Amino acid sequence: MDHADTSSPSDFIRDIIEEDFRTHKHQGRVATRFPPEPNGYPHIGHAKSVCLNFGIAAQYGGTCNLRMDDTDPSGEDMEYVEAIIRDVKWLGFDWQDRLYFASDYYERLYQYALQLIRLGKAYVCDLSPDEIREYRGTLTEPGRESPYRNRSVEENLALFERMRAGEFEEGRHVLRAKIDMGSPNVTMRDPIMYRIKRETHYRTKDQWCIYPMYDFAHCLSDSIEGITHSICTLEFENNRPLYDWFLEQLGVQPRPQQIEFARLDLSYTVMSKRKLMELVERGTVDGWDDPQMPTLSGMRRRGYTPEAIRKFCERIGVSKNDSLIDMALLENCVREDLNERVPRVMAVIRPLKVVINNYPEDRVEEFDCPYHPQKPEMGSRKVPFSRVLFIEREDFMEIPAKKFYRLSPGTEVRLRYGYFIRCTGVVKDPASGEIVEVHCTYDPETRSGFAPDGRKVNATIHWVSATHAVQAEVRLYDRLFTVPEPLAGEADFTEYLNPKSLEVLTACRLEPSLAGSQPGNRFQFERLGYFCVDPAAASGKGLVFNRTVTLRDSWAKVAGKVKP
Ligand code: ATP
Ligand code: MG
Repeated sequence: MDHADTSSPSDFIRDIIEEDFRTHKHQGRVATRFPPEPNGYPHIGHAKSVCLNFGIAAQYGGTCNLRMDDTDPSGEDMEYVEAIIRDVKWLGFDWQDRLYFASDYYERLYQYALQLIRLGKAYVCDLSPDEIREYRGTLTEPGRESPYRNRSVEENLALFERMRAGEFEEGRHVLRAKIDMGSPNVTMRDPIMYRIKRETHYRTKDQWCIYPMYDFAHCLSDSIEGITHSICTLEFENNRPLYDWFLEQLGVQPRPQQIEFARLDLSYTVMSKRKLMELVERGTVDGWDDPQMPTLSGMRRRGYTPEAIRKFCERIGVSKNDSLIDMALLENCVREDLNERVPRVMAVIRPLKVVINNYPEDRVEEFDCPYHPQKPEMGSRKVPFSRVLFIEREDFMEIPAKKFYRLSPGTEVRLRYGYFIRCTGVVKDPASGEIVEVHCTYDPETRSGFAPDGRKVNATIHWVSATHAVQAEVRLYDRLFTVPEPLAGEADFTEYLNPKSLEVLTACRLEPSLAGSQPGNRFQFERLGYFCVDPAAASGKGLVFNRTVTLRDSWAKVAGKVKP
């Protein structure tokens, strides 16, 4: 795996393309496609395929089509088409006017099927689905020929036409390719090309009641669009001979080449649309765009940037070996990207009230605070300071633990952009014993961040002025599952859901500059992580922030360590 930042990545697929250029295989043309089935929202695995297909087209001056691979009426829907279009655009890719639908090819595919029948290469079979499975054999045993295999061309044509005309119920007949029941590759044992499905298709409605199978439709759709390199995931390796067989028998030109690569598998999540659908339907998550989902819409809502996702796809590279990629790698790409460009502000998510006893009650100072310490061009804003503040509850300990250097009775800390304060006492709720207020004094000589006598503090903590603060809800996310491979366990994957994957904090206080924040705006909350204003929060809820990612890999965090 290559982690270097190269502007033109290199991998075994690009090697094939460059070799094809040298041999003029496709007359110097490169045409790829991204072919999602619109039966769910795109996820980060799809992003890998999108980046690969569109990336190759861009790198070699070729084209990449967006094709809805919509040949199965069950579960396909316009909602998913719209989500796919939105997400691929958001990732930063452009198919220009080349948005295609496999369902637009139904008539042509049907004609190709008739042609195969006329060539004696396809037949209508009356075996039931169970019988077909039984006749197919196993990896170690050859299959048996269907008793319907030797029907005449005329009979096959007539039956297939009647299948199309809707004369039969589901399961009564299928159209099969006549290849080889003894093939060591089970895929080649007279695979099904068409089956009857009495379902309304989201685009063609009830125009068709027979639908082509993936293997038949995909290679021909590629060929219809003039695709040169048909890139798919490894599980289709055994299907490649069939892909080639259909094109060969039909003699279609140009002939695309199927190339397989390892799919992306990420730890602590699942990546199958069916499983993700289950989470949506069970109500485990708040829709496909829940920020806990590995979907692109979820990641967008959480605050991930397309640049970070593209960088991630580039870093993981493309290979022929399946591997599990650590979620931490993706999070690191997000952090690196946001670190460079997001303004830094102060917010207190678990507020504890601090009263500065020697600060005048009616006084308000305004501190000019830069948005990014290394980027003066990002500007600054005014942050009000007054007698009553909020600090983070975990920045105070009445009885400090070992190595706790933040605020505790008698100790002194620096307030970010402000004064040194020393804790003089606490006020507790008499009933619960909970600390409700911390009392401090400040040193007016330390405004610059330094004490004139040279004394030092061990920590700088963030704060907001109580009377000026803006209230907000903040949602913190953790891994969706408690194990790296939820689908590999003994139990159903939902048994491994992390009950603490979402924490909602409703009484957070933000510095007042955040009052006008708009959906999608991103910030670093100093010391807490990167946050994004939820673009999908219910109206009337006020400001809701999603934590995009922590400032460092929290799973590698050393307990009790203090960020100075
Ligand atoms: P799922 O398992 O989520 O249903 P799928 O392969 O059935 O995935 P499609 O909509 O058919 O979903 O996928 C569209 C394209 O994206 C295909 O070319 C497929 O190979 C690719 N793709 C899907 N999942 C991944 C993944 N995890 N990593 C890389 N590419 C993927
Ligand atoms: Mg698929």
